[in-house]
Amino acid sequence: MAARTGEQFLQGLLAQPREVWIGGERVRDIVDHPAFRNVTRSVAALYDLQHGRAGGDEMTYLSPTSGDRVGLSFLMPQSREDLARVRRMMKTWADFSGGMMGRSPDYLNRALMAYAAAADYCGEDDPRFAQHIRAYYEHVREHDLCLTHTLINPQANRAAGPSVQPDPHLAAGVVRESDAGIVIRGARMLATLPVADEIMVFPSTLLRGTDEDRPYAFAFAIPCGTRGLKFLCRETFDPLGSTFDYPLSSRFEEMDAVVVFDDVLVPWERVFLLGDVERCNKAFAATGAVGHMAHQVVTKNIAKAEFILGVASLMVEAIAIEQFQHVQGKIAEIIYIVESMKAFARASEADAAVSRWGVMTPSWPPLDAARNLFPAMYPKMIEIVQLLGASGLMGRPVKADLDSGELRPLIEQYYQAARLPAGERIRLFRLAWDVALSSFGSRQVLYERFFFGDPVRMQMATFASYDRQPVMDRVRGFLAR
Ligand SMILES: Cc1cc2nc3c(=O)[nH]c(=O)nc-3n(C[C@H](O)[C@H](O)[C@H](O)COP(=O)(O)OP(=O)(O)OC[C@H]3O[C@@H](n4cnc5c(N)ncnc54)[C@H](O)[C@@H]3O)c2cc1C
Repeated sequence: MAARTGEQFLQGLLAQPREVWIGGERVRDIVDHPAFRNVTRSVAALYDLQHGRAGGDEMTYLSPTSGDRVGLSFLMPQSREDLARVRRMMKTWADFSGGMMGRSPDYLNRALMAYAAAADYCGEDDPRFAQHIRAYYEHVREHDLCLTHTLINPQANRAAGPSVQPDPHLAAGVVRESDAGIVIRGARMLATLPVADEIMVFPSTLLRGTDEDRPYAFAFAIPCGTRGLKFLCRETFDPLGSTFDYPLSSRFEEMDAVVVFDDVLVPWERVFLLGDVERCNKAFAATGAVGHMAHQVVTKNIAKAEFILGVASLMVEAIAIEQFQHVQGKIAEIIYIVESMKAFARASEADAAVSRWGVMTPSWPPLDAARNLFPAMYPKMIEIVQLLGASGLMGRPVKADLDSGELRPLIEQYYQAARLPAGERIRLFRLAWDVALSSFGSRQVLYERFFFGDPVRMQMATFASYDRQPVMDRVRGFLAR
């Protein structure tokens, strides 16, 4: 099967019932349930966007095995131009949601591509694992599947590893192995987009490297409908209203779920790493997956920062505050964020090099800078939207108010803006509210702070890995001059 249509994605979800819980109830129809209806349509729209342009090279490429046109986010890049081409494709998807869909399928497609290219890394303990990851990548690419993932053990006691929690089966771990596969019991947090086709359950970092941690060291992937797999969702942030009232939350509420493994059998052909704590701890870096994922992330950051620049600039124009110096300064600050993300993306491509796995891999230091700076930049941009919008972010009638014959004349009179009629001003300020104040908008801030890892530990990793010796030597030389 070539790059899928949105309808094929929806049919795929329907064909695979899964155990998703929300508000104390099990979801019967994931495609039409109110909490998931809108986001499934948004993911479907991404697939339509890709399929609609599948005739050309912009969104797809020819599969090296089937010869079908498959999604470009699966491409194993061989050149810097390949990286730029993949970035342009990812930007097209990111722009669709203004960067508000963190789990557009390209994010994990890039991770899976890198793991498959580095299959020998998985195969060093057991050669079967190399075959498994290669076959899985090909399966996902040829069927254009959508993946979710879960990496983190439950947040019970962070002072202790998974093996010394009060219950050894709190964190998902292997309880037994058989000819059929491995059996997993316990939980992982947090999987965004439980309306995916399959889930990658990949190494949780920072295991201690002791024998007790071995049962928690693995990488595997299974269909979301696998028996015993349960998704426990938070409440929805989609208010189930119109796109006028809730322009973002009614479209892009991806949902987050804790994943419970109730003695889930993972067949051997879906196991990619097992029992090797050191190998699991290093896997994302050693395979190059973290770099390719960060390349997608910086692309999403560009789209998101540009979107917020657009929203903020339209607000400034609407209420005629552009002459105030601090307003210009605030818009300039967002421009610097946009431009720095673009520069990081370009630098990562310009300095890309072929990895030991034969894949053109974006340079890590600029991407590391991007992934560490954006979690602080994003809340800053949200603060700017709040500071520019002020009370206008609260004076925002809903569509039903506008449709009321009695209220309409009042709204037209009192909600007008210097350069926008009332209806258009309300539409814009409702969007700004959804960016900066709604439950959806607040979750986006938390997402940006944490989804790529704990910022504290990411900074510690930079401290440990960045080669500062040359600059220290230079300053020593200066002091000695
Ligand atoms: C909206 C959202 C969506 C997400 N989606 C996904 C997803 O789809 N898939 C996925 O796998 N993950 C996802 N995550 C999880 C994300 O990977 C984690 O939030 C992140 O890795 C941090 O881990 P934690 O949340 O368990 O925080 P914790 O590790 O529990 O940290 C809590 C606090 O304790 C501090 N702390 C804990 N341990 C240490 C330590 N050793 N040293 C220093 N400080 C420490 C942290 O700095 C932080 O302040 C998502 C998170 C969010 C918020």
